[in-house]
Amino acid sequence: MLVEPPVKAEIGIIGGSGLYELPGIENIRELKVYTPYGMPSDNIVIGELKGRKVAFLARHGRGHRLPPHRVNYRANIWALKTLGVKWILAVSAVGSLRGDYKPGDFVVPDQFIDMTKGIRPHTFFEGGVVAHVSTADPFCEHLRKIILKATSEFPDIRVHSKGTYVCIEGPRFSTRAESRVWKEVFKADIIGMTLVPEVSLACEAQICYATIAMITDYDVWAEKPVTAEEVMRTMSENTAKVKKLIPRIVELLPSTPDERECSCCKSLETALV
Ligand SMILES: [Zn+2]
Repeated sequence: MLVEPPVKAEIGIIGGSGLYELPGIENIRELKVYTPYGMPSDNIVIGELKGRKVAFLARHGRGHRLPPHRVNYRANIWALKTLGVKWILAVSAVGSLRGDYKPGDFVVPDQFIDMTKGIRPHTFFEGGVVAHVSTADPFCEHLRKIILKATSEFPDIRVHSKGTYVCIEGPRFSTRAESRVWKEVFKADIIGMTLVPEVSLACEAQICYATIAMITDYDVWAEKPVTAEEVMRTMSENTAKVKKLIPRIVELLPSTPDERECSCCKSLETALV
């Protein structure tokens, strides 16, 4: 009997709103991955990009079937871990809480504030084994540096090297009062609905994780009415830019995990039990 060797990928790419596929991936295979937590958002597309083995997953499913609160984050991270992924490059659409973080800009956040409602399953440690991973610095510094290096090579991408992402439950947007709290009291910079628990699950799985947050519009604090057309146009421009950027990031990633200059892959060694 022929047994196929397990398919492996070293780099996982999670596409958010607007990014449902990634051009340039060669030798594509599509995998349906089963996990103890159910099915991931969609089939995972495995292939080669710039000579590296990558796995692409559309966070909301292709065709955007799943709202943020219905995404099976545990299945998504588990599936990528099973495939051998060491790095996760996540892409998401966000709103801005600052005047100088403009629609069309990219942000590589370094902190987050979790304002989800605690109804999303958010951990792999539900008993039996108890672990409290540190999320003091929740994103992989090494991967953040590589993303920033790659973006610096594209003059048409305006990027902010830091930012605090406040993650709300959704699917509704914030009220004006809430938006002012995120901006003025929390001093957060950008707002979205999908970062948590994706980022902390990646940490529990000891996978290096960073996100490219692409600003589509100002959140409602700005009291600047925007049309759906404007938002859609900015989103499609952002998507075109990130499609150029991702292959360069992939190219810059160290080819062996041992060259990772971070402690993400050791997050469980220092977890409090
Ligand atoms: Zn790392």
